[in-house]
Amino acid sequence: MSHPDSLSGPVDFAIIGAGPCGIAAGAAARRAGLDVVVVDQGPLCDSIVRYPYYMTFFSTPEKLEIEGLPFVTTDKTPTRKEALVYFRRVTEYFELDTRLYEKVEGIEGSMGDFRIRTRATLEGADAPSRTLRACRIVVATGGFHGPNLLNVPGEELPKVRHHYTEAHPYWNQDVVVVGGSNSAVEASLEMYRAGVRVTLVHFAEELDRSVKPWVRPDMLNRIEKGEIAARFGHRVSRIEPGRVTLRRESDGATASIANDFVLALTGWKADPVLLRELGVPVDEQTGVPAHDPETMETPVPGVYIAGVLAAGHDANRIFIENGRWHGRRIVDSIPAAHVR
Ligand SMILES: Cc1cc2nc3c(=O)[nH]c(=O)nc-3n(C[C@H](O)[C@H](O)[C@H](O)COP(=O)(O)OP(=O)(O)OC[C@H]3O[C@@H](n4cnc5c(N)ncnc54)[C@H](O)[C@@H]3O)c2cc1C
Repeated sequence: MSHPDSLSGPVDFAIIGAGPCGIAAGAAARRAGLDVVVVDQGPLCDSIVRYPYYMTFFSTPEKLEIEGLPFVTTDKTPTRKEALVYFRRVTEYFELDTRLYEKVEGIEGSMGDFRIRTRATLEGADAPSRTLRACRIVVATGGFHGPNLLNVPGEELPKVRHHYTEAHPYWNQDVVVVGGSNSAVEASLEMYRAGVRVTLVHFAEELDRSVKPWVRPDMLNRIEKGEIAARFGHRVSRIEPGRVTLRRESDGATASIANDFVLALTGWKADPVLLRELGVPVDEQTGVPAHDPETMETPVPGVYIAGVLAAGHDANRIFIENGRWHGRRIVDSIPAAHVR
């Protein structure tokens, strides 16, 4: 499809972020007969692209369906690969005009004529900026802007990673996994089964309550049998080549263990920088951008939010299952005849 630019008139909606919830917002707008451009700094569904390669979703496929387009999977829950196929298909089916590998750097203007400044992410620092005009904006930039850092000496070493894709690179290595959530537990189990010596380090005294009920017993059994070492009530306090120092929360006692890699799977956080620049207040405590949950509109007229960005710091509150409806709420709040 053609790409409107600063010389064209404004499109009805510019959606920033081509994750599942940005795509869902685009599909809802297209279904209502509106012009939409979806912009993303990476590929379609960049967050899912970065997920562990062999993960399966916890949601059954019908709970991820967009605008009623059937999602058929071979097993009871989709694999990462099936989800990527599905979201490509949704994008094609609704003929979404996507601008991929274009980072939105700033937004100016007001309802009826927002100017969205973008820059190609693959063309180097000298790439010219482009301008897209839109009557309304949906910010669906997700919650994966930066990892929650450990903030300890040595975190900058190349052996420290903040995300996990597959076990193979860690075969026959001593790996500390930091965290007690699904990501940490599933990575630990997958690596243990691939011949990795895993030590799970978590500041709490037990695994997070959110760990999937069918995964938890497997992990607890591995820990009980000593197949995966677990240091509950501990934090990593220093990372050095070949070693990691752990500190016990209760009394501050330290211990040093042999270590080749640290996987800090401690979650990611959103950065609602575009919204702040537009003047949308963001609650300092919760990280939630001000918005009306019925319409998803922020206090700045014509600026909406969708997806996990609306959850602030608590990314477990909104996910695809519920964030996929935000676009519909936005579109339903605007009589189509009055869009422009
Ligand atoms: C391992 C794992 C398993 C999961 N399983 C499930 C499940 O079974 N069911 C479920 O419902 N949820 C699941 N989730 C959660 C779900 O993936 C997220 O809630 C979902 O991705 C949120 O979608 P989103 O569109 O809001 O944000 P995202 O998917 O994060 O998309 C945001 C997009 O915005 C883009 N972006 C950010 N800033 C800019 C910018 N300045 N300019 C242009 N583009 C920008 C990013 O590149 C990204 O593509 C899982 C998450 C993980 C980590």
